[in-house]
This record gives sequence, structure tokens and C-alpha cells, in this order.
Amino acid sequence: MASTRQSFPRMLGRALLLRCPWCGGRPTFLRGWFRRVDRCRTCGIRWHREEGFELGTVTVNTIVTFGSLAVAMGVGFVLTAPDIPVLPFVASLFVVALVMPVAIYPFTYTIWLAFDLAVHPPERAELDDAMAAVASGDAAAGTPIRPPQRRTRST
Ligand SMILES: [Zn+2]
Repeated sequence: MASTRQSFPRMLGRALLLRCPWCGGRPTFLRGWFRRVDRCRTCGIRWHREEGFELGTVTVNTIVTFGSLAVAMGVGFVLTAPDIPVLPFVASLFVVALVMPVAIYPFTYTIWLAFDLAVHPPERAELDDAMAAVASGDAAAGTPIRPPQRRTRST
């Protein structure tokens, strides 16, 4: 398991291949297209590292979907101007808006995890927890998703 800081381009490349951004391994925390397990089944790192992690995945999904719509509109305008067929044009954009969020769904988790790991690299305790999960077989078993442990602030 990777125990040192990984470069963001490397983690992003792994994420784009639906591999674990941290270890590059498969199987990862993805199970099928829409389901996830608690940890990467190769290295044991949790994907749900803090509360609100899914907000980041939704953000990635929204940015990519809206970007795809912008590109589709631009290409459509360039290819059909000045006589733009409005109904087929809007219908095709509607299809892009429906298909794109589903098509990129698992990628949003791996991409956002790559961002999260780059900005907030795992600490020793998190890596020890991951290694313990791998050693005990919990990570490979793919236990159901549990909420993240709350961090306590010392005052
Ligand atoms: Zn991993």
C-alpha cells in the first residue's frame, strides 16, 4: 500500500481509469456502477473520509455535465448555423443532460477522492487503519458503508 504522499496528476490518472487514486489498485471501493463499499478493497483506505464527501462528487458531476452541455451547444451551433434546427438541437442537449451524469457517476467518486487526497493527505492513523483493515480481511470483504469517524477538536 502506498504510504507516502502521491502526486495529484498520478492520482487523477488512476481516478480516470476507475482505479483507487491512492494505491492504483483494483478492486477498489466501487462495486458495480452505482454501489460502493466502505474501503478500497486493495489498500483499505476509506473513500468517505469526512462528512459531506458526496457534495464534492456532486460538484464534479455538475461541472462535467454542464461542461459537456456547453461543448455540445458550441459544436451544434458551429455545425448548423445559421439555420439551427431548434427542436432536434434541444432534444440532443436534453439527452446529453440525462446521460452524462449517469455515465460519469463512478468517476466522480474516484476523481473527488483524488482531489481530497491531494489536498488532505491521509495521516499516519488513517493509513494504519487502512492497513489493519487489509490485514484483517475487512477491506477485501467490502463491508457496507459506515459514516466517518468524527474528529474531535482539542480545546
Ligand atoms: Zn486503494
